[in-house]
Amino acid sequence: MTAELKLSESRDLTRIERIGAHSHIRGLGLDAALEPRVVSEGLVGQLSARKAAGVILQMIKEGRIAGRGVLIAGQPGTGKTAIAMGLAKSLGQETPFAMLSGSEIFSLEMSKTEALMQAFRRAIGVRIKEETEVIEGEVVEIQIDRPAVSGAASKTGKLTLKTTEMETIYDLGSKMIEALGKEKIQSGDVIAIDKASGKITKLGRSFSRSRDYDAMGPQTKFVQCPDGELQKRKEVVHCVTLHEIDVINSRTQGFLALFTGDTGEIRAEVREQIDTKVAEWREEGKAEIVPGVLFIDEVHMLDVECFSFLNRALENEMAPILVVATNRGHTQIRGTNYRSPHGIPFDLLDRLLIISTQPYTEDEIRKILDIRCQEEDVEMSEEAKVLLTKIGVETSLRYAIHLITSSALACQKRKGKVVEMEDISRVYQLFLDVKRSTQYLMEFQSQYMF
Ligand code: ATP
Repeated sequence: MTAELKLSESRDLTRIERIGAHSHIRGLGLDAALEPRVVSEGLVGQLSARKAAGVILQMIKEGRIAGRGVLIAGQPGTGKTAIAMGLAKSLGQETPFAMLSGSEIFSLEMSKTEALMQAFRRAIGVRIKEETEVIEGEVVEIQIDRPAVSGAASKTGKLTLKTTEMETIYDLGSKMIEALGKEKIQSGDVIAIDKASGKITKLGRSFSRSRDYDAMGPQTKFVQCPDGELQKRKEVVHCVTLHEIDVINSRTQGFLALFTGDTGEIRAEVREQIDTKVAEWREEGKAEIVPGVLFIDEVHMLDVECFSFLNRALENEMAPILVVATNRGHTQIRGTNYRSPHGIPFDLLDRLLIISTQPYTEDEIRKILDIRCQEEDVEMSEEAKVLLTKIGVETSLRYAIHLITSSALACQKRKGKVVEMEDISRVYQLFLDVKRSTQYLMEFQSQYMF
């Protein structure tokens, strides 16, 4: 790792948001008195759990959650993940939300505690304020040195810029040369160069060339050449997670590793250097920590070592809000012979505020399906929705949600615009829900096994 942390790459990091299972969740749907609205911000029903989440939201905002976590207990598909995500969204759009399933810890190619550590750092954001220099002036001359063998080396060049009072020559990097070409910059243009990103913006043509007016056409914007002061300072703010900084500074392929998921184990000294640097930035007022939400589903799948890691991590000054979820009652604590409520050791249970979720009514399932149809841009007839709701009640909410996407495809295939009952029944026959699938296997087995 270089002395200066690599951050420029993280600036280019665009988050790709796809229509995920929870993309319709925009908050907890609470009013000003923190009372839950029946349907709001993508959430439906589950009123007492959402009210409790509202109290937790208040505790977080008042800085009174430290050392504690949240446990959401409830049957599968009752919105545990949805509520945890709603909590993160209501803390602010920039709040990181990291998700991990208890069983994932054992399948990743890294130690259990490393996987947990990475998850924690994915849930801690750093808001970094940086000042960049912006140069403005009129282009007098552009000189590009083309390498002898084309493509063998990156191009370099010089740019003469002038203000009303002086002329200065600037060295150009290949990024800037590319930008000059893209913006079709020529002499007489007034431009701004962001030195940190190499971004070049064309501001218009110089007044001094106003005699070109007729030739350039009426759309051309003519601007006054800037005064002697060439350099301006501009503050830019970006938000990255500690994990992103870790990966960018420890993998040779930099931020690409974040997309491939090939992050590997990160050495402790890299993390220490990063923490020291971030602490320095905080002292200098250049950075702020944005604690996010870490959601661990199927928490009963963790073992006793992981639980002790969580216990310790909760004490950390930079800890995110830990929300764990389970659908298990009294069960064995993995890695021990003891049983406990939710399979969680008592010392950790003691630190958790417990919220429970309830199964949905038919009406609530219908409302959630309506919201998902809207989110996925699927038009569905009333009869089809009634049928899909029935399927949701008989099987599971998640299965019914899956059928929205597949029935829309079936509808597209027959060149229809609105999903009808026939599309729903077609995909219902194609894709089995868990109950029918196990039943089918049992019948199948009986034909072959003696
Ligand atoms: P599991 O225990 O299996 O992990 P879960 O309790 O976390 O399940 P979710 O994954 O949150 O359940 O819910 C299943 C789907 O239903 C998701 O797409 C979720 O966004 C949606 N959903 C669940 N509850 C609600 C709700 N109250 N309002 C809107 N959407 C919901």
